Amino acid sequence: MKNQTHTLLKNIFGYDNFRPLQEEIINRTIEGKDSFILMPTGGGKSMCFQIPALLFDGITVVVSPLISLMKDQVQALKANGIKADFFNSSISVQEENEVITKAINGDLQLLYLSPEKLISVSNTWLKQLNIKLVAIDEAHCVSMWGHDFRPEYTQLKVFRNSLPNVPFMALTATADKSARKDIEEQLGLQNSKLFISSFDRKNLSIEVRGQVQKRKKLQEIVSFINRRKNESGIIYCLSRKNTEEVANHLKEIGHSVAFYHAGMSNEEREKTQTDFINDDTKIIVATIAFGMGIDKSNVRFVIHYNLPKNLEGYYQEIGRAGRDGLPSETLLYYNMRDFVLYSQFAEDGANSAMQKEKLNRMLQFAEAKSCRRKILLSYFGEHLTENCGNCDVCANPPKDFDGTIITQKALSGIARMGEKDGITMLINVLRGSNNADVHEKQYFNLKTYGVGKDISFFNWRDYIIQMANQGFIEIMYAESSALKITPIGWKVLKGEKTVRLTTPISIDDK
Ligand code: ADP
Ligand code: ZN
Repeated sequence: MKNQTHTLLKNIFGYDNFRPLQEEIINRTIEGKDSFILMPTGGGKSMCFQIPALLFDGITVVVSPLISLMKDQVQALKANGIKADFFNSSISVQEENEVITKAINGDLQLLYLSPEKLISVSNTWLKQLNIKLVAIDEAHCVSMWGHDFRPEYTQLKVFRNSLPNVPFMALTATADKSARKDIEEQLGLQNSKLFISSFDRKNLSIEVRGQVQKRKKLQEIVSFINRRKNESGIIYCLSRKNTEEVANHLKEIGHSVAFYHAGMSNEEREKTQTDFINDDTKIIVATIAFGMGIDKSNVRFVIHYNLPKNLEGYYQEIGRAGRDGLPSETLLYYNMRDFVLYSQFAEDGANSAMQKEKLNRMLQFAEAKSCRRKILLSYFGEHLTENCGNCDVCANPPKDFDGTIITQKALSGIARMGEKDGITMLINVLRGSNNADVHEKQYFNLKTYGVGKDISFFNWRDYIIQMANQGFIEIMYAESSALKITPIGWKVLKGEKTVRLTTPISIDDK
């Protein structure tokens, strides 16, 4: 069969060589064994089940939640002379019947199904098929640990158990260690082998800018885009309202731009997406609803207008840039407000502890002072030995210095204010601000009032977050983000411990 797989790759798909892992996965599948495939988007996952599907004398069932992607893949397969069809909520009853007939008559090599449909037909005609392989695409949707949980996926195990001797394949671009374990269990994979291809996308530069005020943020985005005239990009916003605001602003100043969110009609969304893919619209300002399953190779930048909720989502979203391998840029904005807002959401929702933990990891990444790619990849289980040289921290390494006195000033401010106030008030006191809040609380009488005049507001903020990251201060999110001094913080205050701080990374536009 080995020769056959190469011949199919060349003759049907027109490629000369397999990408890393593809061949190994295909061979294992042909042997009838289960596999877990973790490859970045665009990595070539589909080939891993498409080639075995052509070699088996039966049908391969592909489960996917993405209707538009199913349609595209089936069209591409048909164009290559492969007997493929899909079965989901987008087709008519008549079309359904045609697909069922073909499937039952053994006239299909691949059948794509949405999980809902699969569940609804698994006890009827699906039972009559000669199923030789099952591929579960976007397998992270089965896990509550993932960021895109879909309840229908949890019923796939019953289907798996009904086909104990058929190889199953779980495919995803996003799953950390705990999610992987969960997915294997939920899908009932048996002795599956894990295939991870490198997630490192060297052509993507990574930049993070923190604590930028809204107006400045918009200005920076405008100048960012102006320097990349006629290039395609995606700007992700948290709210629908923001997508419209930002898009309208960019449109007013003459950019080719559209917004996209779940509040639009299907037709509007589809048109927006098609225009973007065809380069008729250059920039899309969207909520995270946008991009799943979009295969556009020349996206040159991805901007996050707000902090993403977790690193999985973030990495998937920036991964939509530079699929053609050419240099592409990613830029993330975050501020504490996003973080506090999400923390509150997470308090009400299910899995709140897990969501909060993921959110904390996201924030740590945003505030990190070491190579960002190292942090990201290590989150996904890959460890770089060298710094990447293509992130903002590598480009502008922070210098560290003795920050004991600065830290003592901040801590003594917190102590004198009674550990009741948040970052803004502390900075105002340290900088000797005259604002109404400071007056109301009579903080101008404190000994620490004005001791930090020489440091800018933003630099103070940066330092205080470093102090929190180093464990001298705790930010009590549940108590209006009041700052409290930790036991090691007290040691610093008493002069029993010294502190290293790093110079804040410049947040000015380059
Ligand atoms: P994924 O599902 O991992 O996001 P796809 O399966 O859609 O990725 O593959 C991404 C692109 O790579 C497709 O255009 C596909 O045709 C192409 N591709 C896959 N395998 C190979 C290969 N061995 N050589 C060249 N191109 C490939
Ligand atoms: Zn780096």
